[in-house]
Amino acid sequence: MSQDPTIFSRIIAREIPATIVYEDDQALAFNDMYAAAPFHVLVVPKRPIVNIDAMDDDDVALFGHLVRVCKKVANEAGYSDYRVVANVGAGAGQTVFHHHFHVLAGRPLKWPPG
Ligand code: AMP
Repeated sequence: MSQDPTIFSRIIAREIPATIVYEDDQALAFNDMYAAAPFHVLVVPKRPIVNIDAMDDDDVALFGHLVRVCKKVANEAGYSDYRVVANVGAGAGQTVFHHHFHVLAGRPLKWPPG
């Protein structure tokens, strides 16, 4: 399932542009190019982990950090109500096989999603 370098690896490497809203040594957050809400940021690990199903025990702290980055980017944009979603596998809608959390806000978010 790995297709590295994915488009997100190329964004991390600054080979293609993105609107970056947060960066540290482990994570990058940038605006989704096809935003599904007024606020739609993708939070990715710099290391190319395919998805949650491919994470291992060594990745637990990293994923905790990524969740904290989700909270940070939402809060800093003024949102305390937001949705954090990860599509895991093609059957669940994953199209880029480099893990990413979608952080969505700025409109009413229905449940269940489609
Ligand atoms: P998923 O379908 O969960 O794998 O999500 C992939 C997301 O990446 C989609 O929401 C796309 O709109 C977004 N996307 C694809 N290419 C780019 C890009 N070059 N820059 C920013 N977002 C992108």
